[in-house]
Amino acid sequence: MPPSLHLHGKRGVDLLHDPLLNKGTAFTDAERDTLGLRGLVPPYVTTQEQQLVRVYESYKRKTDELEKYIYLVSLQERNESLFYRLVLEHLEEMMPIIYTPTVGLACQRYGHIFRRPHGLYITRKEKGHIRAVLQNWPHADVRVIVITDGERILGLGDLGANGMGIPVGKLSLYTACAGVPPAQCLPVMLDVGTNNQSLLNDPLYIGTPQPRLRGPEFDEIVEEFVSAVQQLFPKACIQFEDFGNANAFRLLHQYRDKVCTFNDDIQGTAGVVLAGLLSSERLTGTKLVDERVLFLGAGEAGIGIGDLIVSAMMAGGLPQDAARRNCWFVDSKGLVVKSRTDLVEHKLRFAHDHAQAGTLLEAIESIKPTALIGVSGMAQTFTEDVVRAMGRLNKRPVIFALSNPTSKAECTAEQAYGWTEGRAVYASGSPFAPVTLNGKTHVPGQGNNSYIFPGVGLGVLASESSRVTDEMFDVAARTLASMVTESDLALGRVYPDLNRIREVSAAIAVAVAEVVFARGLTRLSRPADLAGHVAAAIYQPQYHDYV
Ligand code: NAD
Repeated sequence: MPPSLHLHGKRGVDLLHDPLLNKGTAFTDAERDTLGLRGLVPPYVTTQEQQLVRVYESYKRKTDELEKYIYLVSLQERNESLFYRLVLEHLEEMMPIIYTPTVGLACQRYGHIFRRPHGLYITRKEKGHIRAVLQNWPHADVRVIVITDGERILGLGDLGANGMGIPVGKLSLYTACAGVPPAQCLPVMLDVGTNNQSLLNDPLYIGTPQPRLRGPEFDEIVEEFVSAVQQLFPKACIQFEDFGNANAFRLLHQYRDKVCTFNDDIQGTAGVVLAGLLSSERLTGTKLVDERVLFLGAGEAGIGIGDLIVSAMMAGGLPQDAARRNCWFVDSKGLVVKSRTDLVEHKLRFAHDHAQAGTLLEAIESIKPTALIGVSGMAQTFTEDVVRAMGRLNKRPVIFALSNPTSKAECTAEQAYGWTEGRAVYASGSPFAPVTLNGKTHVPGQGNNSYIFPGVGLGVLASESSRVTDEMFDVAARTLASMVTESDLALGRVYPDLNRIREVSAAIAVAVAEVVFARGLTRLSRPADLAGHVAAAIYQPQYHDYV
């Protein structure tokens, strides 16, 4: 039995109320007698399979997406094994509920649908006592922490403490997609206020109703949190999530060489997009080093992807300058070029000597990209003219419209295929249904970070790595791309079937752990059977006998 499932003397209702231990009607007769459960559950002893039928039936009865989310979260609060088993068996159907796009809606309404608390909340009031707050967490062996301050939730902006839905959802994906044990996951909301006036006006808002804290005090709180984590959970990896982009880049820069940390919006996104480009190569015939990539959006996602593409192109033999010149950015002020005087630090390395372009279309006409990547959070910015221009310039234009949730996508799958006579190699951030055009069905790939971060997290956890490096995202991307089959490609899909996610994550974890051992980033010695070692760390959502 995994250590997290030791009963620690729990009996009776305490067992029923512990979601990690609860089996509901599946407690056996022996367990009911020995553990004080007799009479507390209906007499018929069911199997987990029978329970699955029941919960899936209840789930299906919900016709509203938000209600489905609430149902799944409540199931997770009651019985983690059953929740994960259900999600794993219906991953494609339920991932858009427990994560984007529905989690976005859930965050917007968080105060209104709130039932039970999840994770830990840290506010300005706890400054000086953050270690004590972390000590309130009931599990000692925390390995993955996802922390947000709610400033940039998906493409939805500042949702303050309502953003707690994101760390909770993201950690569910660590467990569902890679088998990171739930007891080793800790969601954290750093509630430093919000500048979202409608939340400040909402009497049901769950967070601190104050304007967002900035400046040295914010940094001191983060620093105190990071050092308390080092003391209490020294093996934990801290994933910064959905911070506003100025803080996201700064915090990553500040901590990446000091503690085990990464930013999924920057590095995880980069991994999944690099994998998509590597797979696209097999459809377009264009080698990565010959790709000219134009980004709409020069924020966390865009710059993170740009940086990883540059290092992958350098690994393919290009000098850094040439690799950077293959990556171009359009932000809200136009093309990122040298002559601009308004560029923040993270954009400067991609500011090339080139005439300004007033619109995305003008930028496309002058740069002639082979791939167009949308990470602007701006819906419908890949207009018909834009997509047709990409189609005119390329036999197989690569068009990734990655902004989340679905309503923010730069263009839909139907538009991308429709405006290019089905020639586009298309991927989106949130899922789109297949599109049939002139009798041929195109299956859009979902450039979902869940292909990357759970496997990276599992690899870091299993190898007890002290750092998370860019090389790990590079090998994760290559491993992911290598798992795209010919039949995926025949459908136009540049990512593997989502139902293979556990296999994909395990392979990524092994590749990441190889990097950890090769670079000496751990005190562990490399196990002879690394794949077996990783497999042993994987949580399976099945019941164990307690007696
Ligand atoms: P961000 O706030 O850091 O960056 C947004 C960028 O878009 C900024 O550079 C901004 O200047 C630019 N922008 C805004 N309006 C624009 C306009 N009209 N034209 C051109 N550029 C414009 O946000 P981010 O973290 O980079 O995320 C951006 C989007 O990408 C979000 O919608 C997010 O959901 C999505 N995303 C998707 C994935 C994925 O699918 N795997 C991963 C990460 C982020």
